[in-house]
This record gives sequence, structure tokens and C-alpha cells, in this order.
Amino acid sequence: MSSHLTVDPIVCDGHGICAELLPEHITLDDWGFPIINPAAIPGHRLADARRAVKHCPVLALRLRQATSPPDGVAK
Ligand code: SF4
Repeated sequence: MSSHLTVDPIVCDGHGICAELLPEHITLDDWGFPIINPAAIPGHRLADARRAVKHCPVLALRLRQATSPPDGVAK
């Protein structure tokens, strides 16, 4: 089981808080919208990932549990 971040691009307002809290997994594009690294969140960063999810003001960020990584993503 692995944990992956996802963002709902319809809901996201581009506040950028998530990228500040988890910069090694979330970067921002030129307009301030997040680019999510689809790789699994390592165990030692899960608490920070949950914190980023909790602090998203519009609840656009999710932490998803997966038994296998998304297509094209190495474990
Ligand atoms: S904190 Fe939420 S609204 Fe802001 S960029 Fe991240 S996902 Fe989007």
C-alpha cells in the first residue's frame, strides 16, 4: 500500500500553501497552480503530506491510498 497526493484542478484556487508545506512533492506552475509528483509519499513525509491536505483552504488536495502506483509511475 502506498500513499499518493492528488489535486482536484476544478476546486484548486492556486493558493500555493501545499507547495510551501511539501516542496519536494509539490511545485507550482507559472500561474501558482500545483504540479503534483505522482510518486508515492515516503513514510517519513506522510505527516507533512497530511498537514498539506488539512491546510488546503478549498479541500482540493487529497491523500489517496493505492495498492499499485498510477500508470507509468515507478514504486
Ligand atoms: S493549497 Fe489547495 S488550493 Fe492551494 S494550490 Fe494547493 S491544492 Fe490548490
